[in-house]
Amino acid sequence: MDAADVLIIGGGLIGCAAAWHLARGGTDVLLVERGELNAGASGQNAGSLHFQIERRFLEHGEALADQAARTVALSRLAVTEWRDLPAALGDDRLDVAMHGGLMVAQSDDEVRLLERKAALEARWGLPTRLIDGAEARAIAPYLADDVRAASFLADEGHANPRLVTRALADAAGAAGARYLPRTALRALVPVSGGWRATLRRGAADVEVAAASVLIAAGAWTMAVGALAGVHLPVFPIGLQMNVTERVAPFLPHLVQHVGRRLSMKQAHDGNVLIGGGWPSRLARGGDGFDLARAPTVLADSLTGNLAVAAATVPQVGALNLIRTWTGVVAITADQLPLAGAVPGRPGLFVIAGGSGFTLGPTLARAVSAEMLGRSVGDAAEAMALVAPARFAHLNAMLA
Ligand SMILES: Cc1cc2nc3c(=O)[nH]c(=O)nc-3n(C[C@H](O)[C@H](O)[C@H](O)COP(=O)(O)OP(=O)(O)OC[C@H]3O[C@@H](n4cnc5c(N)ncnc54)[C@H](O)[C@@H]3O)c2cc1C
Repeated sequence: MDAADVLIIGGGLIGCAAAWHLARGGTDVLLVERGELNAGASGQNAGSLHFQIERRFLEHGEALADQAARTVALSRLAVTEWRDLPAALGDDRLDVAMHGGLMVAQSDDEVRLLERKAALEARWGLPTRLIDGAEARAIAPYLADDVRAASFLADEGHANPRLVTRALADAAGAAGARYLPRTALRALVPVSGGWRATLRRGAADVEVAAASVLIAAGAWTMAVGALAGVHLPVFPIGLQMNVTERVAPFLPHLVQHVGRRLSMKQAHDGNVLIGGGWPSRLARGGDGFDLARAPTVLADSLTGNLAVAAATVPQVGALNLIRTWTGVVAITADQLPLAGAVPGRPGLFVIAGGSGFTLGPTLARAVSAEMLGRSVGDAAEAMALVAPARFAHLNAMLA
């Protein structure tokens, strides 16, 4: 039987970031990935580094917005994490650009929403600046004339999702972590001193003993949790993204909309990426959603997203669209991440849910520290909010 101190399930950004931190911390790490590295959400996402409170937290009442605001501390840590990441990885090819982000409002109601959001952010120490339309256009001349106001955060930006996970995996490998692609977890049982995993590799089953296990399986978290006999309430959502032809640089910022679904930025090579939470349709089959098949593009999402983009940044309306694609994001019942020790299952940890590109490196650092028995420092309060303990009632009667 193979053995490792820590077995990580999932070769996305989060699994690879945790492998890097744990291996650097002196741990013998084995990371297994059912398919290929970065083939899940980590390689399909929009690459936004958005630290302002997201629109999705503002559209379901005060309680959710207040709760989201309490995790702003994680966003503040994530700013530093992303600023430092290229140097820490010794890799300047991640296309990290943090030239600021604007969340815009075009109606009276949206201006009020922006003001409410900015007040929450101020309370939790995020230095968002509320500006009027004229100042927004002075910073971002490409914005539509009817943009009434914006909240500006100087640290927002984007990075290249196709490059980041690979760089983290390389760093993890250099620190001694082992990686097995095309290897799926099939069973996970608690044993004395840790966990015994059954992995399917090719046609063979391989047994691995590990003192700890980190589930970093994205949209598959619930299924992987079931293999360990726990409910990890993380639900798959199909999203879609669009990208235009390459054009000369004109959009240095991340642009979001407080009232409509929009995230937009210009990538390093000139393409404009347009998304913002527009749904695609998850495949269905067997007993439920079929995550082995890519979600289907929805025409209404495509036209809706492009219409919002052109209404916010008119010159985007003249660009040719070259590709639309779908991906699956994982979301919890309260929309916050699920990160930390799983109660009642010693040695089992999870990181999933939410804006895992922006927050993934920060969550991976914090949970790795927890696994190494080290302090999570400034992250402690926010990590308590996102800990799996808040869903412990789901597992209270599970044998
Ligand atoms: C279209 C889209 C746009 C997004 N835009 C943004 C954005 O702009 N900013 C942002 O912050 N976030 C964004 N996200 C969310 C972000 O991409 C994810 O939160 C993040 O990538 C999650 O990383 P992960 O490593 O947890 O999951 P994943 O990258 O999905 O990796 C999980 C891996 O686990 C593997 N796995 C599953 N089951 C098993 C098993 N049994 N055995 C072995 N391996 C297994 C899977 O094959 C997969 O590779 C977006 C997501 C989507 C889909």
